[in-house]
Amino acid sequence: MSLLATEAIVLHAFDYLESSRILRLVTREAGVRSVLARGARRSSRRFGSALDLFAQGSAQLHIKPGRDLDTLGGFEVERARPTLATDLGRFTGAAVIAELTLRFGRDAADPELFEATSTALDQLANASDAREATLAGAWRIIAALGFAPSLDVCNECHTTLSPNDSALFSHPAGGALCDRCALFAPSGRRLPGEARAALGAWIDGGRAKLDGDADVRAHQRLLREFLREHLSDDRPLRAFEMWEHDPLSAPQLVSVNEKAGRR
Ligand SMILES: [Zn+2]
Repeated sequence: MSLLATEAIVLHAFDYLESSRILRLVTREAGVRSVLARGARRSSRRFGSALDLFAQGSAQLHIKPGRDLDTLGGFEVERARPTLATDLGRFTGAAVIAELTLRFGRDAADPELFEATSTALDQLANASDAREATLAGAWRIIAALGFAPSLDVCNECHTTLSPNDSALFSHPAGGALCDRCALFAPSGRRLPGEARAALGAWIDGGRAKLDGDADVRAHQRLLREFLREHLSDDRPLRAFEMWEHDPLSAPQLVSVNEKAGRR
């Protein structure tokens, strides 16, 4: 058994037996881990509010080689992010971020994934537009996992694409195509220049301004399709589905997004 002290974020928690909790954490030094918090339900003294969802702090993990479940020795909270729990849009977005990190992260040190997750939750905790912050965080996580699409040059022939023009986004090709290569692409979505600029900003850790519900929905759909093409293991992404079909954020009328329609 070895002791590991690492920064960690609580991404999922559920009760275990009568007195304990099992947490799923993303850690800076050891990637995604499942840990047993013994006695966490019986006494709040031991871990306090440390085990609340999306809390970040210093964790001590007892790791036994060959075991899937570590034991939590202690957890000292540095960032509790209480505002994520008080707003449904922010909470749903944080659940999407947690789901992506837990599903696609691995149990090996990945500081970039840890940072992307932490930044996404911080931005959501202060977001005025929670859906934009969720999209930004999700694309940062995709970039941290090494799957960022290329948007400025054609993925086939490497021609530079004009930033203002629309371009076909091909999921199998992994990004944008020039008009010539687009002729041979079996499928794709035509993205206007602004949509490509927004994706590029999110991947680089920046932010974008979205133009109403139709724009948000087009980006949610593009992200869903991209995840399915590049990362999916065929298990449904339940938090993502809930986020995308959230009735509270749905437009009153079904809107067709002409900007990103199928060709
Ligand atoms: Zn090309």
